[in-house]
Amino acid sequence: MREPPGRSQGEQHRSAQHGGYPVTTTPTAPAFDRQGSQGDEERVDAAMRSFVREFGRTTAVHLESCVHCGLCAEACHFHVTTGDAKYTPIRKLELLRRAYWREAGPFAPIVRALGLVKKPGIADLQNWQELLYDSCTMCGRCTTVCPMGIDIAELVKEARHGMFKAGLIPERLALMDRAAQQWGSPATPGEDLPDILAEVSAEYGVEIPCDLSAADILVTAAPAELGDHTKALADAAKILNRTGVKWTMHQGGFDASNIGFNNGDLELQERLTRALVDTAVKIGAHTILLPECGHAYGAARWEAAKWYGRALPVRIIHMTEYLDEVISSGRIHLKKVGQTATFHDPCQIVRRGGLEAAARRVLAALGFELIELQDHGMTGYCCGGGGGVVSNQRAAPLRYKVFDLKKQQVEATGARRFVTSCGQCRITLELGAKNAKWDKTPESLLELVADNLAD
Ligand code: SF4
Ligand code: SF4
Repeated sequence: MREPPGRSQGEQHRSAQHGGYPVTTTPTAPAFDRQGSQGDEERVDAAMRSFVREFGRTTAVHLESCVHCGLCAEACHFHVTTGDAKYTPIRKLELLRRAYWREAGPFAPIVRALGLVKKPGIADLQNWQELLYDSCTMCGRCTTVCPMGIDIAELVKEARHGMFKAGLIPERLALMDRAAQQWGSPATPGEDLPDILAEVSAEYGVEIPCDLSAADILVTAAPAELGDHTKALADAAKILNRTGVKWTMHQGGFDASNIGFNNGDLELQERLTRALVDTAVKIGAHTILLPECGHAYGAARWEAAKWYGRALPVRIIHMTEYLDEVISSGRIHLKKVGQTATFHDPCQIVRRGGLEAAARRVLAALGFELIELQDHGMTGYCCGGGGGVVSNQRAAPLRYKVFDLKKQQVEATGARRFVTSCGQCRITLELGAKNAKWDKTPESLLELVADNLAD
């Protein structure tokens, strides 16, 4: 992975001031980072303007309909594993609710005139950073149990848009954002892609086409596949080459992980997705194949249609869907592994993306006897690293607590293999396993398919 562009002067500021956030029960105040040189008032105004822009009818209904049943608390891995009331999902939205009542609610002028709801201040926003970025993976598990259907994950995403505008996101994420703005990827500039692919190609002995002027499928990667997980990239190439399809990777659009989606940087999110779509159109590809990455699926498959302005001119599919298709259509054949396995469902692909059955069909084609985790499919627990949490080093202690929950569920299955279909989940689980000195290694579904191709 290349060195990302450096931090500019004045962009680093870490503070541990106490704020006055009303629901915190932890004795120490959360850390926060600031970017840019805006004054405090400017930051608050920028955040409020962003919130107000997003307060549509759906947001209003969601913010007004909580019946305080508390069910979401028992659904959130951060609350379950810490028992800390501040991690109750709906409480993570308290500031958004206050902003709504003051600026956009039905009685907003009266609320403001009588001072019925206090305007969020800079200390509130700073302390909110930990609840939005360190202790929410936007996994949506709370949403599935809420009797009122409140989409807390979506509202956290909207809140992050305001925090990004205010220059109040974790510095590790901001650093990746700046790299992606400059390079089109937090991992590497596009101009280095041909060299990286040539290295991977030589190491694994597989042909990886780059920058073809015409192809049927535009294949994309996640940052880890250009660094630590290059085997996944080589394995995707191995499978695609076996099918005989004409495909390519391309400097114009190659990283689908979309750091803008996680950070709340809407402009970057749109720019990165548009680069993929425009590159696919330019080379005449009918399909964009996304890597084993959950947020790539959320950003490109589901969110692009919101702003593209017309029907997307290409099909966008996740690697798991592609594997399922080429196996079930007989374009590749697999050897049977014949062992027990359990499967970690990536939230953005399964709960938010709906691909519950596809991975299970692929596992069955590999001859695995699947032993499900106690919580699996739509109700599976998050790995704890989604939504950028895995890249946010200060959240590591919290992540490790969540990892223990997953570890216990995996061990309870007694399964020999532990498989997942998202590279970010895999990294989170690898880090957790290393920290816990656990001898199980999460495996990639894609790599298992490539390793077991039959002649
Ligand atoms: S989206 Fe996931 S991490 Fe965020 S509050 Fe809900 S359950 Fe917790
Ligand atoms: S489950 Fe829904 S209604 Fe119940 S407290 Fe949570 S957000 Fe409110």
